[in-house]
Amino acid sequence: MFELLFLLLPVAVFYGYVMGSRQANKSQQSEKTRKIGFLTKGINYFLYRDKEKAVDEFIRYYDSDGEHSFEEGLALGTLLRERGDLEKAIRFHNNLLTTAKIEPVQRTAVLLELARDFMSSGLLDKAEDILRELISYNSAKKASVRLLVTLYEQEKEWQRAIDLIDSFKQFADEGILKRQSEFYCELGNESYSRKNYAKANDYFKKASIVNKGCVRAYLNMAKIMIEIGQTKNALTYIQEAVKSDPEMIPICLKSLAKCFYPGQELQHLEVLNSWLQLSDSPQLVMAVADLIMANKTPEEAEAFVMRLLKKSPSFELFSYILGNLYEGLDPKNQERFAVLKSIMDAHLAGNYRYICKHCGFKSSVLFWQCPSCHRWEQMKPHQISEWGAGGVRTVAVEKPEKDG
Ligand SMILES: [Zn+2]
Repeated sequence: MFELLFLLLPVAVFYGYVMGSRQANKSQQSEKTRKIGFLTKGINYFLYRDKEKAVDEFIRYYDSDGEHSFEEGLALGTLLRERGDLEKAIRFHNNLLTTAKIEPVQRTAVLLELARDFMSSGLLDKAEDILRELISYNSAKKASVRLLVTLYEQEKEWQRAIDLIDSFKQFADEGILKRQSEFYCELGNESYSRKNYAKANDYFKKASIVNKGCVRAYLNMAKIMIEIGQTKNALTYIQEAVKSDPEMIPICLKSLAKCFYPGQELQHLEVLNSWLQLSDSPQLVMAVADLIMANKTPEEAEAFVMRLLKKSPSFELFSYILGNLYEGLDPKNQERFAVLKSIMDAHLAGNYRYICKHCGFKSSVLFWQCPSCHRWEQMKPHQISEWGAGGVRTVAVEKPEKDG
């Protein structure tokens, strides 16, 4: 968002400058020269990516005497908010409303910015009042609906957010519907925690209808089915979750294991083997190896893990081989393997298990909504360090950016 503003700001400022220049007479030229100095410096800072100084110069340009275009004012107010000067942004936008001669459509644009200022400041009631008013104006309807959805999301007013999306179906694109499915999941969780499984299931079902790829909804429905003993249905939901996102296989394994009774190990193994076509996650390989060991021989389990380890090396699999296989296969060297495994486990213990694909936030627990960028279902299981062709590599993590 900030980057985009920086692209747009010089355009707005330049437009204002050209329009102003047309009306300037000679006596005004020296003043114009002074102002263009601020502008040039601002653009230079912008080009050299020093945002703070660039904003300062644009503000000095704006504060210098003279008339400015509406677009300049709007862009500068937004810049103030984006760099965190929330009080100034609110004052600035309020001034635009009261002092400038603006058209009705421009007024709605300023009000929208003011609502954003209030939201950023946590003054959600004030933002809601403005947005509720703006929703009746065609020029601001879509933006107001989207902001109100975000506002209800922040307030955890899930049902209000759902109802709002339903009332403005014309704006419900894929992104909004995905969020709506998460709101249903939140309500589902609330019912589940009160042990109202029927109602919870109803919410999760709705989530899977508005977003057919909602892994969270399928896994929760599977959890409920397991709870009430309908393991066949649970298996169907788990398969849907895996079909929607094979990357989430590691978090499906525990629920899958609960779908099979003693004596059904081969059916369990059959499902896991089919997942190996979709994923080579260490957790999946270990689950298969456990079943091979329990139902066949340790040698077969070792051969299987070694094959997968060569194909997709990982520290987790390496540790598993040391601890679960070699200790049994080679009792004489048990102590050596135990030492090696403890070294590997110490390395693994300091790592994170999940990473947000959007902002790079890392965590040892799974959040359905990323605590950093607030996007839903972006946290994915992370394979703890892996060897690439050129040696050990780690996942590059970008610095989280503010969501626009
Ligand atoms: Zn994130």
